[in-house]
Amino acid sequence: MMLVDSHCHLNYEGLVEDQAAVLARARAAGVGTMLNISTREREWADIVGTAERESDVWATVGIHPHEADQHPHVDTAKLVAAAAHPRVIGIGETGLDYYYDHSDRARQQASFRAHIAAARETGLPLIVHTRDAEEDTAAILRDEMGKGAFSGVIHCFTASGAFADIALELGFYISISGIVTFKNAKALQETAARIPSKRLLIETDAPFLAPVPHRGRPCEPAYVADTARFLADLRGETLDELGAATTRNFFALFSKSAAGHARQRHLLRRAAHRRRLGRLRSRRSAQCPHAGLHPRGKRDDAYPRRYLAGHARPAARRRRHPYRRGALDA
Ligand SMILES: [Zn+2]
Ligand SMILES: [Zn+2]
Repeated sequence: MMLVDSHCHLNYEGLVEDQAAVLARARAAGVGTMLNISTREREWADIVGTAERESDVWATVGIHPHEADQHPHVDTAKLVAAAAHPRVIGIGETGLDYYYDHSDRARQQASFRAHIAAARETGLPLIVHTRDAEEDTAAILRDEMGKGAFSGVIHCFTASGAFADIALELGFYISISGIVTFKNAKALQETAARIPSKRLLIETDAPFLAPVPHRGRPCEPAYVADTARFLADLRGETLDELGAATTRNFFALFSKSAAGHARQRHLLRRAAHRRRLGRLRSRRSAQCPHAGLHPRGKRDDAYPRRYLAGHARPAARRRRHPYRRGALDA
């Protein structure tokens, strides 16, 4: 069985120091995919870098509502440009946090709307953080949905049942964190028990909010298994059923990652094919005016596309590879 941690901060203090061990423990616990969430612009390169290194870790780009005051320059265009990276599969986290009020509320709202526009433009899902701001969050989501559809998830859901209904009605997914395992989370447990199976995701929000029985320790993605077990019990499902549904939902919502998996498989097949044609290729390279400039010895998928284009290949073979012309190449 495979689980997905749909929201964690692997590059935060508490996890980043020992990231390799954190990832190893997650994999051992059956966590096959993790979504590493951005909160500040200066983290983006780091978070995308982790996703480039680790094939089971994906990245988002966004500005947390706490940080809105510090990022007046991060607009829709900037988000859209950063989201073009093949390992970036979501926009966020964004939203409204009136509990801490770390940023001016008007700035939080403007930033939220800029993220929504980026989600609409890229077709990538929005990761929404909302705390003590249900009314404004619902109003902005509804208003923006009227301007054009976008998809997303309410992450670390702690809002009311009424807000859950609004989110579901807008087509959003709802992600449940370790908070659901806390003794005093009765209202959340009631809501979590009735979220339709097709719209449910699970997350840790690590390094925060370790679930029972890990409370007091830094949270890490491996613990999503504890939340999954608790939630399955609460909903009267088996762990396998809950794991399968939440994994399916993750790839349905974050569909760019599914496309990325297919593309990785395609690249591996293509690399194997090229090795078989190695002799032929070296003959061609010898004739090429740029021979000697080619980055020989690098992985095949690291070759720039224009280098590949310099070597003629049969048209029939090209047609068989859908990813050559897909959105990912744009
Ligand atoms: Zn959050
Ligand atoms: Zn978070």
